[in-house]
Amino acid sequence: MKIEVEKAESENKTEIDASVVFKLGDTFGFPRDLTEVILSDKGFTYSSEGYDKLMNSQKEQARGAQKFGHDAKWEFVNYNQGSGDTFIGFNEFCAKTKVLRAGISDEGDRAKIVLEKSPFYAESGGQIGDSGTISNANMKLTVYDTKKEEGQIVHYCELIEGNFNFDKEVDVEIDQEKRFYIRKNHTSVHLLQAELKKMFGENVQQSGSYVDHERFRFDFTLNKGLTSEQIKEIESNLFLQINKSEEVIIHEKSLEEAKKMGAIAPFGEKYGDVVRIIDIPNLSMEFCGGTHVDNISEIGMIKIISEGSIASGIRRIEGICSKNAFDLFLIQDYTINKISTSLKTKKNLADVVVVQANPLIQLHGLPPLEKGIVMKSGSTSANVILDITSNSISEIEQQEQIILDGETYRLNLMFRHGLTQPVFGMKGVEIGIDIPFVSHRGGTLDGFIRNWHDAFGLTNSERDQFQDDQLHYQYRRNGATAFRMLNTSNNIGDIRLSAAWQLACRRADETDCSALRASLKLPSGKAKKLSGSGGLDFSLAHSTTRTYQRYTFNYGGGLLLNGRSDLFDEQQKALVGFANAGVNYQPGRFPWMVLKAQLDSHSAMYDSALKNLGSDSVQINIGGSVRFANKMVLDIGVVEDLVTSTVPDVAFHFALRMQHQQ
Ligand SMILES: [Zn+2]
Repeated sequence: MKIEVEKAESENKTEIDASVVFKLGDTFGFPRDLTEVILSDKGFTYSSEGYDKLMNSQKEQARGAQKFGHDAKWEFVNYNQGSGDTFIGFNEFCAKTKVLRAGISDEGDRAKIVLEKSPFYAESGGQIGDSGTISNANMKLTVYDTKKEEGQIVHYCELIEGNFNFDKEVDVEIDQEKRFYIRKNHTSVHLLQAELKKMFGENVQQSGSYVDHERFRFDFTLNKGLTSEQIKEIESNLFLQINKSEEVIIHEKSLEEAKKMGAIAPFGEKYGDVVRIIDIPNLSMEFCGGTHVDNISEIGMIKIISEGSIASGIRRIEGICSKNAFDLFLIQDYTINKISTSLKTKKNLADVVVVQANPLIQLHGLPPLEKGIVMKSGSTSANVILDITSNSISEIEQQEQIILDGETYRLNLMFRHGLTQPVFGMKGVEIGIDIPFVSHRGGTLDGFIRNWHDAFGLTNSERDQFQDDQLHYQYRRNGATAFRMLNTSNNIGDIRLSAAWQLACRRADETDCSALRASLKLPSGKAKKLSGSGGLDFSLAHSTTRTYQRYTFNYGGGLLLNGRSDLFDEQQKALVGFANAGVNYQPGRFPWMVLKAQLDSHSAMYDSALKNLGSDSVQINIGGSVRFANKMVLDIGVVEDLVTSTVPDVAFHFALRMQHQQ
């Protein structure tokens, strides 16, 4: 499938051939829905109609063959004389020969044919009958099965072109590729039997086997099931044996001589005076009339795909070899990669970036909580984060008064990139830029928020005393208005440059990592429009990410150094401490989503008697993320104040994140 996917990718197609999906299920027992998940994850589809068609045609084929076998009325016509049991197919795959006898079905489209000599192996000893073609100038037939009936090799045929004509000589040819794989599977069964006997002694007796071009099955006596360690041991022993590249030697001996040689005689078979022995020197020696590889190295590798009980004391092993085993390895490899990438994607889901929402506090360079894992070298992430805050605050204390009635929209474009080259000898360095757009307006959310608060029994604080949906931001001190804003404003905010350095990532799977993060906030916004502080702020933070099964914890803290501000500079604290902690839970049933809770706190930003300006803050963000369209993540959260009313009563947080990994 990996190859099919890559092929489709290179041809810019998004549809995978249904036969690939069908084969995965039919041959490897790979569940269809799992294939679907993997494909859709990569943005691929397949035709489920095509899949159903294949499924139906397989069923029909089985039905057809059954009908064939049970149809009692076959009136054979003799065309030539002969026994019809001459098999030449050990060494020859095509021949020119005569039809001895043939019978045509009532419907007139099928026939059973006996040939003078045949390269077609008739089903026996668990080996499937050969398929192929029989043709002459008048007709073309498909041979879809070959069986032994009353000592004759009978070819089950379907008319493809022309009309039945058995008078002329026919060209016959087996499906050589099929036979090629049947041989490999048959020799695999011999090696497996010998290995099982070596492991469990003579308790192991063959009680049945089946071999076709796709897989093999081996039934044997044993009281206990095999452990997965034993299966692995068998597989690796078989691999080492195959690597010995032994020639397969075929002896034809009298029954007595054969028994003296110590060959294994399979259960339930009848033998003539002369028996055929398949001898793989030092590994296996068995009576067998089947077709085999010339050298065991042709098998390549053997993979056991199932082991279980089919009756009391009887176990069944199913396996594949050669190309099928290698294909399975590719699929498993691909699946593991897929799963590990999706685990990494889950970690991407873990980012929570919430910005302080108070319009007078968001001015400053307070950094949001970021992960303890920096961007991988060469990968880039782009995030569009929208924080909507609805404020309705009115507070008077001593000589100060604040009114915050309106909505603040903060749209942040956030880019992060993992550098490929070390910086001053440091590896694992990430750089970033945040470009915010800040809009203050009357807004539209007041009514909605009142309903929200009523529904959850929360207080509407000062909201009821304001007119809905107006803008009024004001701060008065000592009887004078220090700041006032009544009109909508839209401005670019303070651009922030950031750098992060991966300190430690103790485990290869990134479950315990920490990073040092620094940021420099430039005075690109306008303090009078509350889109920036007008100062140069610097922050330094330490952040850690730890994962325990389905939980991811992000926590960190640091210091913010506030530069000179154009607004309330004399009240502004030069040094502010901050700490954040968040937990994400990934529900196993829904790999595309994560539930989150996060606490963000900081010490007071201003010297003020007002709680909304001068007190420490703790806010909680509760929400979740969903992943869609492969690499996009949407965060939705609601931010509420926990301790004081520093944070306006409701803030909504939306983030659209996109990640590109090289
Ligand atoms: Zn055999």
